[in-house]
Amino acid sequence: MARLRLLIRLGMAAMLLAMFIARPAAAHDQVLPSFDPSCHAAAPLDATASAMIVRGEWTCTNDGWRSDVSAMWLRFDAQAWNGELAPRQFFSRIARFSTITFHAVDASGAIRTRRYTQADARPFAEGPVFQLPLPEITAQTRTLLVRVEAPHSVPLLTEARIAHDNSNGALRPISFVLLAFVMGMLVLPLLFDISFYVVLRERFILVHAAMVCAMMTYVLFAGGLVSAMVTVPVAFMAVVAPLSYAIGGGLSALFFANFLERGAQSPLMRRITVAAGVFTIAVPGFFALQLDATQLFDDRGYFITFLPYIFVISTAIIEAVLRGSRSARFIAVAWTPIIFASTERLLRGLGWYVGPPSLDQMMYVAIGIEVVVISLAIADRFLALRRERDEALTEARLLEQISTRDSLTGLMNRRAVEARFDELLAQGFDTFALIDLDRFKAINDLHGHQIGDAALIACADAIRAGNDRDSIAVRLGGEEFVVLLRGERTLERAEALRQAIPMRIAKAVPGLELPVTASMGVIVLAEASRHKMAFAEFYARADALMYEAKASGRNRLAYERLTVFSSAPKRHRAGKERTAA
Ligand code: GH3
Ligand code: MG
Ligand code: MG
Repeated sequence: MARLRLLIRLGMAAMLLAMFIARPAAAHDQVLPSFDPSCHAAAPLDATASAMIVRGEWTCTNDGWRSDVSAMWLRFDAQAWNGELAPRQFFSRIARFSTITFHAVDASGAIRTRRYTQADARPFAEGPVFQLPLPEITAQTRTLLVRVEAPHSVPLLTEARIAHDNSNGALRPISFVLLAFVMGMLVLPLLFDISFYVVLRERFILVHAAMVCAMMTYVLFAGGLVSAMVTVPVAFMAVVAPLSYAIGGGLSALFFANFLERGAQSPLMRRITVAAGVFTIAVPGFFALQLDATQLFDDRGYFITFLPYIFVISTAIIEAVLRGSRSARFIAVAWTPIIFASTERLLRGLGWYVGPPSLDQMMYVAIGIEVVVISLAIADRFLALRRERDEALTEARLLEQISTRDSLTGLMNRRAVEARFDELLAQGFDTFALIDLDRFKAINDLHGHQIGDAALIACADAIRAGNDRDSIAVRLGGEEFVVLLRGERTLERAEALRQAIPMRIAKAVPGLELPVTASMGVIVLAEASRHKMAFAEFYARADALMYEAKASGRNRLAYERLTVFSSAPKRHRAGKERTAA
C-alpha cells in the first residue's frame, strides 16, 4: 500500500515536471495569422516554376492530395496576405522529403528562389512541425510557389502554411499541456510494471512496459514535445514517430496474446494475434523508415498495412469478451478510443479527407485513457494471479500433509519420519521408543475393526500427549508406533507415555473386558550428535528389544543404551545396560 502511494506521488511529480517543461509554450503575446496554399499540383521532376505558372494543372479545392508523386507544388497567392505583414516563414508537419524549393514570383516576372534539403529544416519547438525561411516577399510579389520533391506523407502537404513569424506555427498551448499530461500519465504504468514484475515474473508485464515505452516515444516525437527539450534532426523525428507507433501497436497485440487468462483466446486466434503483432512491427515499421526507394508508396503502405492489425485486434477482443474473459473486457474499454483515433488518423493519412491537425489530440487523449485502464487491468490480473498462486500453494501444502500424515490417527507416518530421520538425529532426538499394543488382534476379533480403530486413535492420543518440541509420535503401521524423544530423562518420559495408553483407551472405548496394554522397546543413543545411525538400524534393534518384552510377559519396557564410539562408526561397540521393567 505504501509502495502504491509512493508510485502515485512519483507519477504526479512526473506530470508536474512535464507540464513545467511545457509551460513556456503558453507565453505568446500576439498571434499573427498564417496562410494556407490556395492551390496544389502534381508535376514531373523537371517542371520549372515558369512552366508551372503557365501550364500547371492546379487543383484549387481540398481534393487530390497525394504523396505518391515525385514532386508536388503548392501555390500561395498574394491576395491572402495583402494588408497583413508579409510572410517570412514556411511551416509544415514533420515528414521526410528530399528538397523544398521556394519561388517568390513578382509582378514583373522576376523570381527569387531558395532551395533547401531536409537537413536545413528546423524542428519547431512547440509541435510536430518544422520551419524554413522564405525568400523575400515584397509588395510586388504576386505568388509564392513551393516545390516539394519526394514528399513522404500527405499531411506534409495539406498542413503547409506560411506566416510572418513563429507565433502561429505551433500547436495551441492547451494541446501542448495535454501532451505533457499524457507523458506524465505514461510514467505511472511504467512504475507499476516495475513493481509488479518484482513480485510476479510474468512476461506480459515486460511486454506492457515495452509498449508503454513505445507510446512515450510516440507522444514525445509525434507531438513534437521532444523539440521543447532537445533539438533533433527533422528527418529523425519524421521516422521515429510512425516507427514507434508501429512498434507500440505490434507490441500491444503481443501483450494481448500474453495477458489474457488461459483459454480466453482460441489457439488459432492467439496465433493470428501474435502474427499480426509481428507483422505490424515489421511491415508498417519498415514503411515508417521512409526510404528513398519506397517514397512513391510508403505513405500509403504504412497506413494500408496497419489495416490487418486493426481488423485482427478488434476481432480478437470481441472473441475473448464473448468467451467470458474479464481481462478482455478491460482491454475493450482501454483500446476502443485508440482504435477509433487510429482509424481516423489512417483515413486522414490516406488523404481521404483533410482535417485540422488538432484532431491529433484525440489520439493523445485515447493513449491517456488506455494507460490508465490497462494499468487497472494489470492490477486486477495481478491480484487474480496472486490468488491463483496462493491457492496452488495451499493445495500443495495440503497434499504434502496428506502424504506425510497417517490418515487414521493424524500422526506423522513412517515415510515422513524416515525422510527426515537424519535431520531429527542432528536435532538431538536420541531416543527411539517402539510401541506395540498387546494382543490387539483379539480386540478386533471380539469387537470388530471399528472398535479396534477407536482404540488405535486413543493410543495415538496418549502418545501424542507428550508431543511438545521434544517428542514426536509416529504411527509405523498396524498397531505399531514410535515416539522419538530428546532432552532430559527420555527413558522415563517414554515409559510414562506407555503407561498412559491403557487408561486412555479405556476412557475412549468403554466396554472392553481387559485393559489394552502396550509393550515397548527403547534405544537410547548416547552422544547421538557424533554418529549417524540409520532408521532401519534403530528399528531392528528396538524390535529385538520388543520381542524380549513380549516374551517376558508383555505390558513392559525393554531398553538398551548405546554408546557409540566415533572412531568406529559402522561397527560400534555397544555398552549395554538392559532392564526389564
Ligand atoms: P502381540 O501382543 O504379540 O503384539 O499380539 P497382537 O495381537 O497385537 O499381534 P499382531 O501384531 O500379530 O496383530 C496385530 C493386529 O492388529 C492384526 C490386525 O488385526 C490389527 N490391526 C493392524 N492394523 C489395524 C488397523 O488399522 N485397524 C484395526 N482395527 N486393526 C488393525
Ligand atoms: Mg501387537
Ligand atoms: Mg504388531
